[in-house]
Amino acid sequence: MNNSHATDTAIFALSRDAIAICDDKKNIVQVNPAFEHSLGYKSEDIVNQNLFGLLTDDSKIRQEIEQELDDEREWVGDVNLNCQNKEIKKMTVCSSHDLQENTDKPKLFLIILGLSNERDKKENYYDKLTGLATPQLFIDRTEQALIAAPRSNKSVALLMVGLDRFVLINDGLGYHIGDQVLKAVADKLNQNIRRSDTAARIEGDRFALVMQITSIEDSVFVAEKILKSMCQTLEIEGNTLSLTASIGISIFPSDSSDQTSLIKHAESAMRYTKKLGGNHYQFFSAEMNTKAKKRIEMENKLRRAIKNNEFVVYYQPKVNLENNAIVGAEALVRWMDPDVGMVSPAEFIPIAEETGLVNGIGAIVLKEACRQNSEWQAKGLSGVKMSVNVAGSQFREPEFIDKVKAALTESGLAAEYLDLEITETMLIGNMEQVIEKLTAIREMGVHVSIDDFGTGYSSLSYLSRFPVTTLKIDQAFIRDMENDTATEEIVRAIIGLSHGLNLEVVAEGAENIKHINFLREQGCDLVQGYFYSKPLPAEEFEKKLAGEYLYDS
Ligand code: C2E
Ligand code: MG
Ligand code: MG
Repeated sequence: MNNSHATDTAIFALSRDAIAICDDKKNIVQVNPAFEHSLGYKSEDIVNQNLFGLLTDDSKIRQEIEQELDDEREWVGDVNLNCQNKEIKKMTVCSSHDLQENTDKPKLFLIILGLSNERDKKENYYDKLTGLATPQLFIDRTEQALIAAPRSNKSVALLMVGLDRFVLINDGLGYHIGDQVLKAVADKLNQNIRRSDTAARIEGDRFALVMQITSIEDSVFVAEKILKSMCQTLEIEGNTLSLTASIGISIFPSDSSDQTSLIKHAESAMRYTKKLGGNHYQFFSAEMNTKAKKRIEMENKLRRAIKNNEFVVYYQPKVNLENNAIVGAEALVRWMDPDVGMVSPAEFIPIAEETGLVNGIGAIVLKEACRQNSEWQAKGLSGVKMSVNVAGSQFREPEFIDKVKAALTESGLAAEYLDLEITETMLIGNMEQVIEKLTAIREMGVHVSIDDFGTGYSSLSYLSRFPVTTLKIDQAFIRDMENDTATEEIVRAIIGLSHGLNLEVVAEGAENIKHINFLREQGCDLVQGYFYSKPLPAEEFEKKLAGEYLYDS
């Protein structure tokens, strides 16, 4: 037993926080004495039970936790736990993965914070009137979020929510009614946030929320939901009341990296919203306001684009370096926006991914690319392998395999002429499920490439376990080769690695003859890049394929 392991074991045994360790199926394998003591279970009763069996909560919260854990993120939030004596305790729980590289199966920790001296905490931490977090707990939670968010590549949004003209209710109808309104507002806030987010009552009619977000869109989404629910009328002791609120939003890390100024910034944004007339939200920074506005416009326009099918597919040749023949094509989507003209996928795919619209767009591209390839073959042109980019959420769809099958059947394209490009980050997480899906794709005869290889953080030792056929070296490496001989070595190593693993290797972004010569010398199989051709509309690609243009390299 090495030293750090011995320390871990001691911490586990002595910790006053209850800790359960689970395997990758979320079955409990070990609990510490604090766990036995706090929840009343004996170790032997609880080991082998499923972790989620401890939660009284519904499937929504399970899904939320599972999603975060599958993506190897931490989850922190309040849950109701079933104790051995049938008591239910509301506890703050933090669960996290064992991220040690050399462990074969991921382990999961469930750490139950604060079961000891629960009673005095309850008073300090939860507002008596509304049951929301107190400012003290809110500050704690914000601090936790600021520490946890960067570890899972997230940001933090702090929303300050103030009721508009609440004083009229208090003065006009009395504090008794005012209190009931505040309670109702607290319920509305709770209904519109995830369990891992925290809602607090700061003072009087001022509330605050803190949440981890993947994009500022997430905070816009919550702010809009809250504004909408506030507008629904309240019936309180024969009075019909309608409310509005003003919301100010500050973002970590872009607006500030410490919680005190994040809170101040959100407050000043809230005051500004009030000045503008209330019933709305504002970000602290002008830049975020513009960004949020642009995002929302883009989202609405993308919905329309899917409905009206405003997408076209361009094709970029993949060329065999031995004989300069076109042997493949990558289908790259373009959006023909009637207002502004052609929009590049680099601009809209990230937004489409965040809003879930990418699945619809991806399905359109997949169908069209198969149809087009089949049409070219029917015209007697030489068969090319058609690569189609697949987004993470698209790959995770349960119907994904069926959609691939349907695209092949409808177009009549043979599976060997289709290749799906996935990225390294899609391989991380639920490895067994990913392997199962990839195996099913390979069994159909469809190829699988890893796109932008070298930019993610996939572990090389895992690579051989995924049934993929091709590695695509990211274009940044090819671009940097000229200025940096170390990058040349990386490219050389990836080519060697691919061949060692019996994989085909494609270099992306080859722009000049120097790139081509180097890649050819190193035995790179295929090249895709401006040197040969930019992505082309279908008719132009067809001409190239028919040999109307010849390459002169
Ligand atoms: P990607 O899959 O890595 O595609 C290669 C990108 O590199 C394309 O950009 C291509 O035009 C560009 N490229 C190729 N050769 C060169 C070169 O020599 N020099 C330079 N500077 N660039 C080169 P594009 O078409 O703008 O696409 C950008 C990204 O958008 C793609 O990167 C892909 O991640 C995404 N994308 C495109 N179409 C789709 C789609 O249908 N679905 C999904 N999910 N993503 C897509
Ligand atoms: Mg690609
Ligand atoms: Mg790429």
